[in-house]
Amino acid sequence: MGPFLVLPSAKKLPSYSKAFASSPNPLPCIPATPCVKFLIMRNVVIIGSGPAGLTAAVYAARANLSPLLIEGWQSGGQLTTTTEVENYPGFAKGIMGPDLMKEMRAQAERFGTEFLTGDVTAVELTQRPFTLTIDGEQRVQTKTLIIATGASAIQIGLKNEARLTGHGVSTCATCDGFFFKGKELIVVGGGDSAMEEATFLTKFASKVTVVHRRDKLRATKILQDRAMKNEKIAFLWNSAVEDILGGDLVTGVRVKNLVTGKVTEVPCAGVFVAIGHRPNTNLFSGQLDMDAKGYIRTTQGTATNVPGVFASGDVQDSTYRQAVTAAGSGCMAAIDAERFLESNSHNL
Ligand code: NAP
Repeated sequence: MGPFLVLPSAKKLPSYSKAFASSPNPLPCIPATPCVKFLIMRNVVIIGSGPAGLTAAVYAARANLSPLLIEGWQSGGQLTTTTEVENYPGFAKGIMGPDLMKEMRAQAERFGTEFLTGDVTAVELTQRPFTLTIDGEQRVQTKTLIIATGASAIQIGLKNEARLTGHGVSTCATCDGFFFKGKELIVVGGGDSAMEEATFLTKFASKVTVVHRRDKLRATKILQDRAMKNEKIAFLWNSAVEDILGGDLVTGVRVKNLVTGKVTEVPCAGVFVAIGHRPNTNLFSGQLDMDAKGYIRTTQGTATNVPGVFASGDVQDSTYRQAVTAAGSGCMAAIDAERFLESNSHNL
C-alpha cells in the first residue's frame, strides 16, 4: 500500500506539508472521509520527544529512514520539568534539562526528522502497516513504530490533591517553585526526585519539609547528602500525607506518623509530590505485552511482542530510568527498526 493524502486542511499541523513533501512516494489526493484529515505512509514513526524518542530520531534520520516524530502538546518529556542535569555525559558543568532537550531536538531536526505536534489517541498494531490516529482525526501509517512515550508523575491519590493542583499542589518544582518565595513547603517522597525538588525549592522557600513513608531514603547518596546538609530542609520520617488542607489555596497538610499513628497538621503554602512515575502505556494495552506495572516488555534489545514495534526509554525501563539510559535505548530502537526494515523489505 502506498502513501496517500486526504484533506490538506488541518491548520494545526504546521509540519503537514513538509511531512507530505518528503514522504517516500506521495500519491495524489483522494476524496475526503469525515474522520480522516490526512494519511501518510512512513518507514519509521516515533511517538515521544524525550531523550529516547529524540535519540531514536537522530539515528533513524541518519539511516535515511525519514522518520516522523510525533510530539505531544507538552513536548520534551520529563527533563523539561527538571532543573540542572549533572549526570548526562558530555556536560562537565551540567546543563539545564530544558536546554538539553532543545539541543537534542535541534540535532534530530538537523538530520531531517520531521515533527508533528499532537497527541496520539489510538493505535492499530494488529494490521500492517500500523495506523496511528492523532488528536482523534489525523492518521499516519507506518511500517515500523518506535514507542518512547515515557512516564508521568504519580499522585498520592487524595481528593484535595486533585482539587488543589495548580493552587499549591504541584509535581514540578522547576515550573512552580518561583511562586513560593519566603513560604514553607512540603515535599512528599524519598527518592532522587524528592531530594532534587526539595533542594531546588530552598532557593525560594523559607523551609522545606520532606515527608517520607519510611525511615530511610531511596535517593542516591550524593542527593541525600546534599539535602541533609541543607539547613532549610527538615525531614518527617515514617510519615504519610493523609490530607491537603485549604480552600482556594493550600494552607497545610495533615500528616500521620505510620509508627505511632499520631496525626499532626503542618502549615505550608505548597505541596510538591515527588513519589515516582507511571509508564505512559494505556494507549497500547491489549496490543502489547506489559508487566504488572504497565511497562512494555522488550526482548532482544527493544523488540516488543509485535514485530516492527519497538519500545525505548522509561516506557519499558522500570529499573534504570535515566536520561542517558533512555537515550541509549532510543539509539537501539532506531537500529532495531532499521534492521527490521532491511530484513523484511519484501513483505512490508
Ligand atoms: P522513585 O525512585 O521511584 O522514588 C519514589 C519515592 O516516593 C520513594 O521514596 C517511595 O517510597 C515514595 N513513594 C512511592 N509511592 C508513594 C506513595 N503512594 N506515598 C508516599 N510515598 C511514596 O522515583 P523518583 O524519585 O521519581 O526517581 C525515578 C527515577 O529517576 C530513579 O531511577 C531516579 O534515580 C531517577 N532520577 C534521577 C535524578 C538524578 O540523577 N538527578 C533525578 C530524579 C530522578 P519508598 O522509598 O518507601 O519506596
